[in-house]
Amino acid sequence: YGRAPVPHAEVRVDLAAIRDNVAELKARAGRAEVMAVVKADAYGHGLVPAARAARSGGATWLGTAVLAEALALRAAGVGGRLLAWLTAPGERFSDAVGADVDVAASAPWTVAEIAAAARETGRTARVHLKVDSGLGRSGAPRADWPALVDAALREQAEGTLRVVGLWSHFAVADDPGHSVNTEQLEAFGEALAWAETRGVRPEVRHVANSAATLALPSSHYDLVRPGLAVYGLSPMPGQVRPADVGLRPAMSVRARLALVKRVPAGHGVSYGHLYATDRESTLGLVPLGYGDGVPRHASSGDGVGPGAPVLVDGVTRRVAGRVCMDQFVLDLRDDDVHAGDEVVLFGGGDGEPSAQQWAEACGTLSYEIVTRFAPRLPRTYV
Ligand code: PLP
Repeated sequence: YGRAPVPHAEVRVDLAAIRDNVAELKARAGRAEVMAVVKADAYGHGLVPAARAARSGGATWLGTAVLAEALALRAAGVGGRLLAWLTAPGERFSDAVGADVDVAASAPWTVAEIAAAARETGRTARVHLKVDSGLGRSGAPRADWPALVDAALREQAEGTLRVVGLWSHFAVADDPGHSVNTEQLEAFGEALAWAETRGVRPEVRHVANSAATLALPSSHYDLVRPGLAVYGLSPMPGQVRPADVGLRPAMSVRARLALVKRVPAGHGVSYGHLYATDRESTLGLVPLGYGDGVPRHASSGDGVGPGAPVLVDGVTRRVAGRVCMDQFVLDLRDDDVHAGDEVVLFGGGDGEPSAQQWAEACGTLSYEIVTRFAPRLPRTYV
């Protein structure tokens, strides 16, 4: 899409914030290295610029879920250690091996596919074996550890791959005192000890996401894998604000009012007339909608939520009525505002609503708020 000559709306990304957040996380991780998680277009911040900013903050590793994103990083010239962990049968592992991308395996058949790709390309694959320590998502359950590890060690002996990582993922790290964290750390410790008896000597053991990086130091091992915190948002919003832990939000979403008009009391606003003015009032049209990634749950009125907050010339207003595909409306009362004035949906500046407040108004997580902005909305890097 490129950048519009005069953007009427944009996602503004502060790359220095990403760099500084990574540096802060690195300081908190002690001797562990940092893998900045840049999956899902770097949580909506823009894959390549965010990855470069994370590298400049000291992330020696980058992590993506799907392989396509790891390959896009390589195509853009991003070097260094890089892990893609979510693959499916028939994945082009030869591309991964050829591009020097580490891959993960939770099952013996994945090990076999990786090894076949390594034979094809004549290179040695680097593999991170994943154990399910309790999340119940990917990773080998305990009963399957022997099959996974034995398959990997057989291939390692053939020289097709090297087991460089042993890893897992938490279920409730956002609640650091929860007993499941202790249980998972114990299970992971057992997996490490057991694998060692089989002769597995991983270069990196890793389990900590953002919350664990911030609040569970015993989980840091050799490498931490923060995602959300890299972008300056709190994975434990009820307990920790970003500023409390030296982080600042990197994303703000801004627009210019497309139209301002005066309407009488009792004027219905937007589809379904869920909202009506309670007095003569000024309405402001924001040229952003669910087609841009503004959740429809940000709407307000009868039978829906409270409306997400928006900052307009120093005053916080709420979305009035339904969010439409391309636009939504604000009830600006008697505010002295004009078409073209800037509005801030959320950001990190003084008085700006936060992505977390948007998440609460929409019944979701800040993860989903920042990740969902559409490609047609330009990203501007500052
Ligand atoms: N590691 C894995 C395997 C993940 O799937 C994710 C994200 O969900 C992360 C690390 C980063 O998590 P967070 O954004 O909570 O730090």
